[in-house]
Amino acid sequence: MQDADLLDCLVIGGGAAGLTAAVYLGRYKRRVQVVDAGASRLRLIPLSRNVPGFPEGIAGPDLWRRMREHAVAYGVPIAEACIERLEQRAGGGFIAHAAGREWHARYVILATGACDVAPEIPGLDHALQAGQVRYCPVCDGFETQGQRVAVLGRAGHGLRESLFVAGFGNEVTWLAMQSQEEVAPADLARLREAGVRIAESAPTRIECSQSDGVCVDLVNGQRLHFETLYPALGLVHACGLATALGARAHADGQLEVDAHQQTCVPGLYAAGDVSVDLNQISVATGHAAIAATAIHNRL
Ligand SMILES: Cc1cc2nc3c(=O)[nH]c(=O)nc-3n(C[C@H](O)[C@H](O)[C@H](O)COP(=O)(O)OP(=O)(O)OC[C@H]3O[C@@H](n4cnc5c(N)ncnc54)[C@H](O)[C@@H]3O)c2cc1C
Repeated sequence: MQDADLLDCLVIGGGAAGLTAAVYLGRYKRRVQVVDAGASRLRLIPLSRNVPGFPEGIAGPDLWRRMREHAVAYGVPIAEACIERLEQRAGGGFIAHAAGREWHARYVILATGACDVAPEIPGLDHALQAGQVRYCPVCDGFETQGQRVAVLGRAGHGLRESLFVAGFGNEVTWLAMQSQEEVAPADLARLREAGVRIAESAPTRIECSQSDGVCVDLVNGQRLHFETLYPALGLVHACGLATALGARAHADGQLEVDAHQQTCVPGLYAAGDVSVDLNQISVATGHAAIAATAIHNRL
């Protein structure tokens, strides 16, 4: 490989973080390439109402398309591929491999995101689009005011999310999946104070339909009805390319980074959901601006 082919920066992942990094690096006139596997969580958002500048809301796929167009407008190429392996390059930098192709770069921004652990619900995609199933109360808890809302998740995630969701003037039931025995008395008292009910037994089946909303059957034969369900089953962070190189991750999966978004592997940066527990578009774009500028200043 000729030195002229060496990228200043390879951005792995073309969602909110990766595309923002591409815009910044493109405008800094750096040699940058985005490689994206095409599964941004942006594409799952029916309508986001907390992106600054869009008071009427914007559909996730529209925002994703606009962000791609923005990166392309500054000359950044976007390849569709899934990076399978990242290695350190003799003499500095990195080599990324994907199905017989490879990219060499001085710096890498890992913007590979995270995936929600999905509940077993027939027609889940449709229920997500209809807003009956929602993953992110930070994003859309506001929209559940006055509704009957269920939170599905074991002690830990489920408990924290139930308390959070109950702050929106709704009627919350925690589907605790038989984990309420693990909850400390002080936390049970907090749930009571917040008005959160705990379902009497574990859910056996959840169904969503236009006519009946979200129906939950419990082991004890009860059937509960809700307008909205928040699964709180956790997230899987796509951090494997970095941890394979020795980058450290926190206990719940996101990568550890410094104030410039650099992991403990010199030259390897991380931005967006893969490196934070506040999974938000504005956080992902902020990370990307910080990482891209830090890299530009080092080049
Ligand atoms: C239903 C839903 C609603 C949401 N609503 C909102 C909202 O209203 N407001 C808000 O702020 N946030 C919302 N979010 C969260 C928001 O979508 C994420 O925080 C944001 O997309 C994170 O950006 P990211 O770039 O880190 O990850 P993503 O946008 O998920 O992008 C990651 C990209 O990396 C790619 N990738 C992964 N591994 C590889 C690899 N090995 N090689 C190449 N590419 C790879 C993926 O395919 C994907 O395209 C919502 C999320 C969901 C699921």
